[in-house]
Amino acid sequence: MPAFVPLPVIESVIELNFEGYFVPCPGCQKELRINRKYVGQHVSCKHCQTSFCFDLTNPALKNLSVFADCPHCEKSMRFAPKYLGLKAACRFCDGHLKILPAENSSVPPSPALPSQANHQPALRSVATNPR
Ligand SMILES: [Zn+2]
Ligand SMILES: [Zn+2]
Repeated sequence: MPAFVPLPVIESVIELNFEGYFVPCPGCQKELRINRKYVGQHVSCKHCQTSFCFDLTNPALKNLSVFADCPHCEKSMRFAPKYLGLKAACRFCDGHLKILPAENSSVPPSPALPSQANHQPALRSVATNPR
């Protein structure tokens, strides 16, 4: 008779869209919370009135982080943008989730096409006669 093996409980991974970004203001360095719908638009800091283009490729905004509410415990999480598209666990409730990447980000697309076609080694000379 086979031993009883309890099945591990698989936590469901909930996919969610993040809500926006925390960005240091280029003018006063205070942290601004900006909804993702403003990506690519001009925004102005509520502290120092500096207006800047909320362009994710702007090097002044490279320290941004992303925020979203945990679908399990509803606490507000913040995380580095590198976690977008990855499975992660909420640090409050340990609930598993996957933050969907921005579908229309203004980040220039990384070269999607494999560039190997351009880097094929030149064909070896056919003059080398195999014996
Ligand atoms: Zn400011
Ligand atoms: Zn949670």
